[in-house]
Amino acid sequence: MKKNIVVNEQFCPQNHHCPSMNRCPVGAIVQKNSYSAPEIDYSKCTGCGICTRTCMVFQCTNC
Ligand code: SF4
Repeated sequence: MKKNIVVNEQFCPQNHHCPSMNRCPVGAIVQKNSYSAPEIDYSKCTGCGICTRTCMVFQCTNC
């Protein structure tokens, strides 16, 4: 089953460039600007789970 990844904004300070964008192998993490929480482009996300291991903002709902 593909992992379903969600963004839990309460763990994001929303005051910096999201470093997880560079860690996603398919570029599925996007951020409108440095003061917004990251978002996941589900048309790209493969559910690999890498982001859930690098930042607590990203959480898996079916792992
Ligand atoms: S689960 Fe993998 S593909 Fe999806 S946003 Fe996280 S790192 Fe990117």
